[in-house]
Amino acid sequence: MRQFNVVVLGAGGVGKSALTVRFVRDVFVENYDPTIEEQYHRPIMVDGELSSLEVLDTAGAEQFTSLNEVYIKSGRGFVLVFSLTQEVSLKEVESLRKQIFRIKGSESVPIVVVGTKSDLVSEREVPTTTIESLASRWNLPFYETSAKRNWHVNDVFEDLLRQMRLRYPPD
Ligand code: GDP
Ligand code: MG
Repeated sequence: MRQFNVVVLGAGGVGKSALTVRFVRDVFVENYDPTIEEQYHRPIMVDGELSSLEVLDTAGAEQFTSLNEVYIKSGRGFVLVFSLTQEVSLKEVESLRKQIFRIKGSESVPIVVVGTKSDLVSEREVPTTTIESLASRWNLPFYETSAKRNWHVNDVFEDLLRQMRLRYPPD
């Protein structure tokens, strides 16, 4: 079975841990320790083929960009997370995207951009129109998810796995 490592990056509090834990354990954790960084493992069946994902839920403060560099060097696929309830969290995604392209020396890197907390409708700050225009400008797939309701969480990792299989074909 082929194994791929994935790094989950984004500003603090956007829901990286909730998204990761929903995907790997299928539960919603309300108050996950914001300082815990953990790597999870989950088998996943996509297009009739079983693969294994190693998912690193990062917890570093974004100002420690040297740490980001280590993550980016080691990762094969990236989940860039912002909160739909916090427009400013998109800025971190924009900067991570640039860092990834610079560090990988290429723009053909498997990436999925994820807007979280779609269940918090009345707190929403980022409209779908903004997401659609960024998606076409950046040429990256975007997903609107809720870890709480389990909306579109699996779609994120399935999309990323398909990209990684294309980018890193078996020898
Ligand atoms: P992280 O710092 O990026 O890992 O963020 P966390 O996963 O710890 O989530 C930060 C806060 O947002 C916590 O209070 C979570 O319960 C909440 N949260 C995360 N995802 C969702 C979601 O999909 N819906 C709602 N309503 N709250 C969420
Ligand atoms: Mg966390």
